[in-house]
Amino acid sequence: MDTVEFDDSPVGPADSPQSIRCTACDAALRSPGRNTISFLLVDQFTIPLVGCPEHLDQFRMVCGLTTEESATMLDHRPAGGIQCPGCRLAAHRHQHPVFPVGTGAVGVLACPAHQGDIIGRYKTGLQTQHHLTASLASHRP
Ligand SMILES: [Zn+2]
Ligand SMILES: [Zn+2]
Repeated sequence: MDTVEFDDSPVGPADSPQSIRCTACDAALRSPGRNTISFLLVDQFTIPLVGCPEHLDQFRMVCGLTTEESATMLDHRPAGGIQCPGCRLAAHRHQHPVFPVGTGAVGVLACPAHQGDIIGRYKTGLQTQHHLTASLASHRP
């Protein structure tokens, strides 16, 4: 079982993290609320996330590389609700880990197990993306 390692120590919304250069992400993370939470649907998971639309979409795209199915981002609670009780509770917490995505950051409002899972997927997705880019480059004439 892999342990999850964050590149930066988890950052609370009260701090002013220098790693977040995207002001829209920063604003969303400072005041996560009903209207700023999005839901990433990937395979059987529903992961509540906070961030700006641009970086949420970037996160979705990278996670989508790890699944045959498509990864979908909803800006409202899915019809079936959040299946995992831990994730459901985590969405109401004020402190949550923030994961750097490009120049922005995405807050993962999930239970520890699903946090680890989705961040693992994101990292795998980044590697896949890297390989894709590398193999494209090597096909150049
Ligand atoms: Zn952003
Ligand atoms: Zn969960």
